[in-house]
Amino acid sequence: MTDKKQSEYGINTKAIRTGHMRTPENEHSEAIFPTSSFVFDNAAQAAARFKGDEPGNIYSRFTNPTVRTFEERLAAMEKGERCIATSSGMSAILCTILGLLKQGDHIVSSRSIFGTTVNMFGNIFPKYGIETSFVNMTDYTAWESAITKQTRILFLETPSNPLTTIADIKKLAAIAHQHDALLIVDNCFCTPALQLPIDLGADIVIHSATKYLDGQGRCLGGAIIGPDKLLAEDIYGLLRSGGASMSPFNAWVFLKGLETLSIRMKAHCENTGKIAEWLDMQDFVEKVYYPGLVNHEQHDLSCQQQRGHGGIVSFVVKGGQEKAWQIIDNTDIFSITANLGDTKSTITHPATTTHNKLSDEQKLEAGILPGLVRLSVGLEDVEDLINDLEQAHSNS
Ligand SMILES: *Cc1c(COP(=O)(O)O)cnc(C)c1O
Repeated sequence: MTDKKQSEYGINTKAIRTGHMRTPENEHSEAIFPTSSFVFDNAAQAAARFKGDEPGNIYSRFTNPTVRTFEERLAAMEKGERCIATSSGMSAILCTILGLLKQGDHIVSSRSIFGTTVNMFGNIFPKYGIETSFVNMTDYTAWESAITKQTRILFLETPSNPLTTIADIKKLAAIAHQHDALLIVDNCFCTPALQLPIDLGADIVIHSATKYLDGQGRCLGGAIIGPDKLLAEDIYGLLRSGGASMSPFNAWVFLKGLETLSIRMKAHCENTGKIAEWLDMQDFVEKVYYPGLVNHEQHDLSCQQQRGHGGIVSFVVKGGQEKAWQIIDNTDIFSITANLGDTKSTITHPATTTHNKLSDEQKLEAGILPGLVRLSVGLEDVEDLINDLEQAHSNS
């Protein structure tokens, strides 16, 4: 496909066709290149490649054809100029922050982000002189007042985990750009099938490919998408030397995941919407958090900003932790695991797992109540999932 034609294609055509360069074998499905290094025609070519005078593969820590196909495909889907694949979602965040920032720089971040990211921002980066201020993600005045002369990055996830709070990406991009800062969005929950942060003004998109991009819970991986200028030197340079590269096998699994991403996300949204509506009618449930429900605080924003309301729903049961644990233990179909974005539905007790490091006070402030249960709704028959939740409640 020519570049011009490519950018005009819809997301499904890109997801299935972009980035595939056939080998002389004329394979129909993308080949995997499980090789650590590449050979040169002669010594002069080796010298030219190492010098950077001639493009081409040298070593898979730098470039690999399967990884490149994944990168080109995901960049096209996210409408970014370039994508850099990484060994995990966390290494995507590590390479982005350490690549772009230096000692003395400052980050303003939503408080409601992945626990390990909170740990990186709050405990690890300060060792290298990079400080972070955390703010309430929907308090735009707080975002603005936390910005200092040293602020280089605004960072968030939307919808948030586990309460599915939604922040206005356009508004935050405007705030960031007024202060010469970059807006980085971790688009893990929505994926490009449901939300395009770059179209809304974000500078960089981060992915944990481990979640919906794989979609079947097999591989760890991550990605950074954004302007070539930002990614090329500082971030790619760090990755290439630091070695957080994606393995060709994982890249191949994610490529296959991308091909079905849109239809999977649509099915995740449909199942989750039905479960959220059912939960909302149950007496044992105190509150349901799902952007697709009209009683969700940012339902209208979700309708504007996203093409679907996502596959995560959380709910608070009456009876606190005891009842929440009973329901979790009594389910037959749901897997008890903290992972998400899988075809298999999962059930989690955030207060004692993903958010266990918060103090009781911080949990209360963040809405992580003892009775809160999070579901990542998979692609099983939704009637079976609802019946399973019903019997898990009745038997507890
Ligand atoms: C899982 C996750 C990450 C980290 O990704 P890994 O692939 O586990 O390193 C980052 N952000 C979000 C929102 C996640 O859910």
